[in-house]
Amino acid sequence: MTMRIAIAGGGLGGLTLARILHRHGIGAVVYEREPSRSARSQGGMLDLHPESGQHALAEAGLTAPFRSEARPEGEEHRILDPAGRTLVHHVPEPGSFAGRPEIDRRVLRDLLLDALPGDAVAWDHRIVAAAPRPGGGFELTFEGGRSADCDLLVGADGARSAVRPLLTDAKLSPVATLVELTIGDPRPDVAGLVGPGNLWCMGVSRILAAQRLGDGSIRVGITLPADDRDLDAYRGKRALLEIFDGWDPRLTALIQAGDGDPNPRRIDAMPTGTRWDHRPGITLIGDAAHLMPPVGEGANQAMLDGASLAASLAGAIAADPDSAIRAYEEEMFARIHPIAEMSARIQAMMLSPTAADDIVRFFSRRAAEVP
Ligand SMILES: Cc1cc2nc3c(=O)[nH]c(=O)nc-3n(C[C@H](O)[C@H](O)[C@H](O)COP(=O)(O)OP(=O)(O)OC[C@H]3O[C@@H](n4cnc5c(N)ncnc54)[C@H](O)[C@@H]3O)c2cc1C
Repeated sequence: MTMRIAIAGGGLGGLTLARILHRHGIGAVVYEREPSRSARSQGGMLDLHPESGQHALAEAGLTAPFRSEARPEGEEHRILDPAGRTLVHHVPEPGSFAGRPEIDRRVLRDLLLDALPGDAVAWDHRIVAAAPRPGGGFELTFEGGRSADCDLLVGADGARSAVRPLLTDAKLSPVATLVELTIGDPRPDVAGLVGPGNLWCMGVSRILAAQRLGDGSIRVGITLPADDRDLDAYRGKRALLEIFDGWDPRLTALIQAGDGDPNPRRIDAMPTGTRWDHRPGITLIGDAAHLMPPVGEGANQAMLDGASLAASLAGAIAADPDSAIRAYEEEMFARIHPIAEMSARIQAMMLSPTAADDIVRFFSRRAAEVP
């Protein structure tokens, strides 16, 4: 009998898993809460690392479309201090894919969706409960009362996973407050300041960052230490401008130029080293398994999790799917632990009083390592 695989969540991890399984002739249904692929803006740009995100795309057979959509020039980054002085300016080699080329999240997700059969994603299926069935597998209940059975449930449903509590009671803790703005049609001076890639302006326990997307728009992100303040305190531009009082007006122009009101949210992380005892018929990938501070690894690792689990299942699906899941989990726990520790260290460093000096050292070291 064919094994019925349910993937909770059609983010980058879940879609990578579904696509690679599909390449191996293994069917899976992705249950996604959003009503359609264009229901929500997918956010900014990601840089895909050769050993993780790009490797997973290769396993998915999507290197060629990735290369035609990615923007190596988006790897350009500038780091400034609050007076507007340039601390770091990295310009990648033109057209090179050797580093970590950037791609808009929406474009990357579309690339994966287009590579799946039309019925692989069940849109508008928010999982509200998953209960073990007496004979093995799980019964999923969706918002609105519909339900479905599966033999293997993969929780790929992100930071606030509904599947995670079946495996671990790990709690999220806040690591930062992020306030975002979009500039749809930037003025030339604002566009020139940001350049074709990323800009970070490092102050004392505050960062003003911006990135250029493929459609020419700019996403501005303000990162502040986590606190107990009501998020409404960050919804007005005036409040944000007060936080950056005394900064070069060319930098604070990024806040002023934002379309509409700022959008604040808490950024959480799971405890470093979270793992669980293997349970038959269920596992987690991506943020559901290891939510980390957002310093450039989460999506890359979510995609690599998808590739790792798919390879493991493809090798053993009929004979022994549970050893395949166990093998994936052990590989993932060992891989993620040091990455989660490093992400926590970088997040703390970025919001420390000596952030500017620390980050310059960090990038100089990385520049020496990256070919
Ligand atoms: C501001 C910011 C910047 C970041 N920058 C980077 C970066 O540069 N590089 C990088 O590698 N990572 C980055 N990350 C991290 C990255 O976004 C995540 O690690 C990555 O998206 C995780 O992928 P995922 O597939 O596990 O989860 P998600 O992308 O969150 O996908 C989960 C999916 O599940 C769906 N879902 C949720 N609940 C349910 C439910 N109950 N039922 C059905 N569907 C459900 C959601 O709608 C969503 O489509 C950043 C994160 C943030 C917050």
